[in-house]
Amino acid sequence: MNLPGAPFLARQGRELCLEGHALAELAARFGTPLYVYSRGAMLRAFQAYERALHGRRHLVCYAMKANSSLAVLQTFAQAGAGFDIVSGGELARVLAAGGDASRVVFSGVGKTRAEMRQALQAGVRCFNVESQDELDTLNAEALASGCRAPVSLRVNPDVDAGTHPYISTGLKGNKFGIAHAQALGAYRHAASLPGLHVVGIDCHIGSQITQLPPYLDALDRLLDLVEAVEAAGIPIHHVDVGGGLGITYTDETPPDAGALVRALLQRLDERGHGHREVLFEPGRSLVGNAGVLLAEVLVLKHALDAEGKNFCIVDAAMNDLVRPAMYEAWMGIEPCVQRDGPAPVWDVVGPVCESGDWLGRARALAVAPGDVLAVLSAGAYGMTMASNYNTRPRAAEVMLDGPRVHLIREREDVRQLFAGERLL
Ligand SMILES: *Cc1c(COP(=O)(O)O)cnc(C)c1O
Repeated sequence: MNLPGAPFLARQGRELCLEGHALAELAARFGTPLYVYSRGAMLRAFQAYERALHGRRHLVCYAMKANSSLAVLQTFAQAGAGFDIVSGGELARVLAAGGDASRVVFSGVGKTRAEMRQALQAGVRCFNVESQDELDTLNAEALASGCRAPVSLRVNPDVDAGTHPYISTGLKGNKFGIAHAQALGAYRHAASLPGLHVVGIDCHIGSQITQLPPYLDALDRLLDLVEAVEAAGIPIHHVDVGGGLGITYTDETPPDAGALVRALLQRLDERGHGHREVLFEPGRSLVGNAGVLLAEVLVLKHALDAEGKNFCIVDAAMNDLVRPAMYEAWMGIEPCVQRDGPAPVWDVVGPVCESGDWLGRARALAVAPGDVLAVLSAGAYGMTMASNYNTRPRAAEVMLDGPRVHLIREREDVRQLFAGERLL
């Protein structure tokens, strides 16, 4: 079987290993649930974008909502990445990890005034603005701060990314971006405001995209606008094509990052826009297959009859990894140490009091209580979406770096969970 995350994730005999480290040993050493990441896999994914962009003015801004742990941000900052942020909290994380605000683009449909001031003060590279109202508010905040805010308008190109409705963002009915038909007017308005400085255009059409055509369609729509906006006397410096490239969870075959970049650069060249700086905002494709979530099998519940289900109950739950519950996402599940014997079909579920609390359905696994399972491709939208539902402390995180093993986040302590609460 081809493991998503190969060659960093591989079987060595019976042992499932990440960057050569036996995952069962890491579970024994650090406890479960445990997120484990490969630094090498993250850097390799980043380099695929960088290599294809070599020789072009460009910036790859890691969309950090996919995984915002400080050591992950540090890894990308040191590799030369910028960051795509969606909150003031994320900006604080970038700075705490040693990242550079001048390489940050600030996205999001609902930025508060306080967040705008924070980002102006830090000196972010660009505000990706999503509405007319936001232009006015940002203009007022910039004037009050005595500066000019660099802005790009996020345009909704109205293309179907062909992905799950919850993670499709470039269609007319979405809350995201400025409608294509209103964008020229919005640019004229932006250019008229003394607190703003137009620098670019951006879009982001969805997530877990596995096809090239939606990207090319979106780029064409963007370039049509760039031409109209520049004809109106407003120069556009950079084109930001967003993120969204999919990864292989099971049998998806997304284009690799190099192929995506080359196709987009070629289209830019063909249409005479090859001189522009180009920005990308990948999240999932940089970290998704660089991580796994380890969980210990607590209980096996066998079906009463032929209609019943077998349940494999593990110590990780929807609060640790919500993708299956939220998007019905399929994620690979592998035993960390293979055992012989029959492999019955199980629903792999957590202990949380919700029927939606499952990690995988109908999985054939040879398991026994005490075994450790690895949920694969868990590096993106895993830990960042974790919660404390059922008063469950959040998992610890480990980063592997060649021979080194770093605990990058301690397991949360139950007392931390109610430290801010008061009795009447
Ligand atoms: C979430 C997001 C991204 C990254 O999406 P991925 O699917 O993780 O690559 C990029 N840009 C914006 C504006 C986003 O909201």
